[in-house]
Amino acid sequence: PSYPTTSLEFLQSIKTHTNEALLSATKIKIIVVGAGLGGLATSCALARRGHDVTCFEQAERLGEVGAGIQMPPNSARLLLKWGLGEYLDERVVEPTCITFRRWQNGAELSRTALVPDHRQKFGAPYYVVHRAHFHDSLHQLALKLGAKVKIASRVIEYDPETPSITLANGEVHYADLIVAADGINSIARETVTGARTDSRNTGFAAYRATIDVEKIKADPEIAWIVEEAKINLWVGDGRHVMTYPIASGESFNLVLSHPLSGTAKKQSPSEVLEEMRLNFEGWDSRLIKLMSLIHTTMKWPLCNLPSISTYVHSASKMIILGDGAHAMLPYMSQGAAMAVEDGAALAEALHLASSPEDIPEALRIWNAVRWQRGCQMQEASSLNGILWHFKDGPEQEARDAAMRLGSFGKDM
Ligand code: FAD
Repeated sequence: PSYPTTSLEFLQSIKTHTNEALLSATKIKIIVVGAGLGGLATSCALARRGHDVTCFEQAERLGEVGAGIQMPPNSARLLLKWGLGEYLDERVVEPTCITFRRWQNGAELSRTALVPDHRQKFGAPYYVVHRAHFHDSLHQLALKLGAKVKIASRVIEYDPETPSITLANGEVHYADLIVAADGINSIARETVTGARTDSRNTGFAAYRATIDVEKIKADPEIAWIVEEAKINLWVGDGRHVMTYPIASGESFNLVLSHPLSGTAKKQSPSEVLEEMRLNFEGWDSRLIKLMSLIHTTMKWPLCNLPSISTYVHSASKMIILGDGAHAMLPYMSQGAAMAVEDGAALAEALHLASSPEDIPEALRIWNAVRWQRGCQMQEASSLNGILWHFKDGPEQEARDAAMRLGSFGKDM
């Protein structure tokens, strides 16, 4: 086949192919390693095209840690097209807008409408969802589409030439292609790139917590925060707080980002809670009231990766995607969305292959498109970590003025 050589041509070819028969001309045996959001989404994308997909997960039980996650329209559009709505529709919330607020008093700095704007502009909604619901829905869809998911299967070694994987129990499994979706501390990354790249601390951490919506509604001073489904974001010096409803609006999710303190000592739950309160002392009194309803929280150091040289091994039979390839700060809400796009693009690139001999070329195209996109999103996520966190002063004032004019992100 004649392969597209630019991202634009590739995207156009995806559009052309979306209306064609689902099944790919070449049925490929594919091993996916890792059943996180990235591995399961990729399993769905590939199984949907008729490939023989087995996903190996090290955990004894499938699940996700943490509460809420945003599903922007670039991933929602793909996932809904694949049929995820059957499992997810009842469990999501579609917020009406994203509102940026000043740290000190909650004054509105900008408001971006999501309903109906995102459906009109991008052909898909902007959802927020409980991670466990997202993960469970992907698992159910992957099984329905014919993928096999094997738990308690830890990969300890890759042979990218054969290609094959060796599990901790000694089993060796062979395939035509290995897709590693094994997260930020991936062991596949070194095999694919030929060089060790460690994840790095970004200097930020996040407290993550949920609150029962009824408790918020019971207090007239803070009930407005949950009355209309919204994403609210308070921004201040080195910190921000993001809030939104999840679980069909029954629960409320908070992510409180702050500089990672130097303490290496293991903290008790009450010490973490106290540290969280100290970190946001002096912020909007309504936010402080909301935070007083948090009784337990998890503290999460935020790590990312530098851009790695390639996502495809030189023998063209093994690739890496998701956080393992391009872990980023969560400040664009795009980490999982990028993994969904990786999986979708892989399925489309392989769909263009009319015989197994075409696979290396399909992977070359996939790598060119996804590497560029992954690096750009890593950079954009880090940039938000600067723009959102200005200390009060000239830079913050310029940012806020741009936000009020609606030109934030265009002029800056
Ligand atoms: P992981 O979720 O890490 O999954 C890797 C899987 O591989 C795990 O199940 C692991 O057990 C398995 N595994 C690892 N090694 C092996 C092995 N050797 N053998 C077998 N299995 C193995 N993204 C968004 O899109 N929107 C958001 O709003 C958003 N918010 C975020 C907020 C926070 C605070 C954080 C920290 C992240 C956020 N993200 C968000 C990012 C998102 O959570 C990640 O990008 C995404 O979960 C990565 O998925 P993954 O499948 O690549 O990796």
